[in-house]
Amino acid sequence: MTEPILATTSSVDDTKALAAALAELARHHDLILLAGDLGAGKTAFAQGFGAALGVTDRITSPTFTIVNSYEGRLDLNHLDVYRLEQLNDVLDVGLPDLLDEGGVTLIEWGDAVLPALPPTYLEIHLELPDDADATDDDRLVTLMLVGDAWQARRRAINEAVRPWLAGRGKPDHDGAN
Ligand code: ADP
Ligand code: MG
Repeated sequence: MTEPILATTSSVDDTKALAAALAELARHHDLILLAGDLGAGKTAFAQGFGAALGVTDRITSPTFTIVNSYEGRLDLNHLDVYRLEQLNDVLDVGLPDLLDEGGVTLIEWGDAVLPALPPTYLEIHLELPDDADATDDDRLVTLMLVGDAWQARRRAINEAVRPWLAGRGKPDHDGAN
């Protein structure tokens, strides 16, 4: 396991932009797990990611369906396994088959289905910073590259999220008071 990549976003649109930057690197059969509490921004991430893939349909939480599939430059499969019944449904639906079909698969609460997943995925954890200076719109975004195939893409991913890398200090924060 390599070091996680740490990024920060400061608004919902900023998270969508980060997701869009990652979508530029997307390939068929990519699996991305979106972890984090309710309201952390997992669905917002999926929306930004999908938009950059050329999905024109509105991306909503797949709350009452097992999987929402969208057509884009690459097809997007979007799952949410917040409810345990959905976890069982996901197992029933044959996740490996879905991944084999092609396109990119995003799973919200994907860390809950880890035992059922292939050991190669990008896990993106969204959370509110534990920081007195943080606003309600700040998020910490931790990217974990799991498996050799994702670790081999580290340089490209790092480059794609460079504007959001934690600790860089956004230029517009400097001397802007
Ligand atoms: P989840 O799918 O994780 O439950 P959603 O994407 O549905 O979360 O909701 C995230 C909420 O947080 C939205 O209301 C969004 O406007 C708000 N928000 C505020 N700041 C951010 C940010 N930096 N990134 C993502 N969402 C944010
Ligand atoms: Mg959601």
